[in-house]
Amino acid sequence: MIAVTTLKDKQVALFGLGGSGLATAQALVAGGARVTAWDDNPESVAKAVSEGIGTGDLRQADWSAFSAFILSPGVPLTHPKPHWTVDLAHAAGVEVIGDVELFVRERRAHAPDCAFIAITGTNGKSTTTALIAHILKTSGCDTQLGGNIGTAVLTLDPPKNGRFYVVECSSYQIDLAPTIDPSAGVLLNLTPDHLDRHGTMQHYADIKERLVAGSRVAVVGVDDSFSSLIADRVERSGTKVVRISRRQVLADGLYADGSRIVQARAGATSLFAELDGIQTLRGGHNAQNAAAAIAACLAVGVSQTDIVKGLSSFPGLKHRMQPVGRKGQVVFVNDSKATNADAAAPALSSYERIYWIAGGLPKEGGITTLAPFFPKIAKAFLIGEAAPAFAATLGEAVPFEISGTLAQAVAHAAAHAAKDTGPSAVMLSPACASFDQYKNFEVRGDAFVSHVAAIEGVTMLI
Ligand code: ADP
Repeated sequence: MIAVTTLKDKQVALFGLGGSGLATAQALVAGGARVTAWDDNPESVAKAVSEGIGTGDLRQADWSAFSAFILSPGVPLTHPKPHWTVDLAHAAGVEVIGDVELFVRERRAHAPDCAFIAITGTNGKSTTTALIAHILKTSGCDTQLGGNIGTAVLTLDPPKNGRFYVVECSSYQIDLAPTIDPSAGVLLNLTPDHLDRHGTMQHYADIKERLVAGSRVAVVGVDDSFSSLIADRVERSGTKVVRISRRQVLADGLYADGSRIVQARAGATSLFAELDGIQTLRGGHNAQNAAAAIAACLAVGVSQTDIVKGLSSFPGLKHRMQPVGRKGQVVFVNDSKATNADAAAPALSSYERIYWIAGGLPKEGGITTLAPFFPKIAKAFLIGEAAPAFAATLGEAVPFEISGTLAQAVAHAAAHAAKDTGPSAVMLSPACASFDQYKNFEVRGDAFVSHVAAIEGVTMLI
């Protein structure tokens, strides 16, 4: 745990006692802060009390006594309207910050030279974060991985020189981290998302910009106009910018040419890495993630040899286009995280002959936007509540069956694929939420894996 020493002996208010909120409260207490924590959920408050955290209803508190207010990233700061605690903090002139801000202050106070890579973007954050951490670890670096990816940043080991932090940051976390100052900040891409919480696309982009604006080296994907303008603006303010692209040839930076990642410097280009054959980094979207990871690792001093070695052994992330098994020329791919059509598109674009398992709890719009990929689908196996609607969309264009359950779909898809003479993928990329049949997408993905493992003669890859 990182004890938060920068608020030692100070009175601190905290709202939101979910996983990361509780960890933050513990880190504050460990550092000597006097914490008053609260949550709307009495069970969360009771849990905090049982762990020795000071609690109290912040509606009744004397806000003039607080030196800081720590808000959980899940609680609205600005939109659709500020949470009542935020209004109280503003009225009392108390700063509102989150756990990432506490981490960056701690790093500045105790080990300002330790490498800190922060990653954001609308899509690809977790993959890029995990890839960077994997490259660092396989290069022998003392690596800490956390943030939005699932491990609260203050539960990591404390900053010390020589240690490397790789921290995924959501826009909510950046919004609560006004002095974020990574050694390398990565902004992958920007498309409309979470606008209910950020108001407008411009406000959302402004928040994301803060992560790279505060960086020593800013790594920016320039394939969308918002990010491209951010790269120009940050560069004009004097920050070193490394541009990355999956779609354009760059005069300076790292770009994808098919599966090749090319480095361009001062007009000269050289092949930096070849992704062909790395199952976990298939597809143009992963070329963007890999280019960003390369740029970030170079910025903190990792050699090309070590980076290339790390890329080739990346195990991938669970439930995201994860190759989980193989039988002959058939690869079984778990892309359970694809809970809507947009999220399924990268997986469908990454394989040429697909036995597609889709369905679940349907999302608005269905799968009509996936029509460009239909020619690659050898057959679709439809499950869950969405099956009839998906069947109607597929119509005459794609052969399909209504399998109903995931178990049937896997067995039938595997049997069909086994008859092919060339390579193919049996892929769960459901374009639906899971809640009609499973607790969440993780449980659905795990079920897929166990159905694959039950296929006779299959070799598991995980
Ligand atoms: P995030 O953490 O930003 O949600 P993930 O790395 O978990 O992103 O990837 C989630 C899904 O987003 C993947 O399964 C894939 O479909 C898609 N994706 C991943 N990387 C990118 C990218 N660079 N651009 C667009 N889509 C991507």
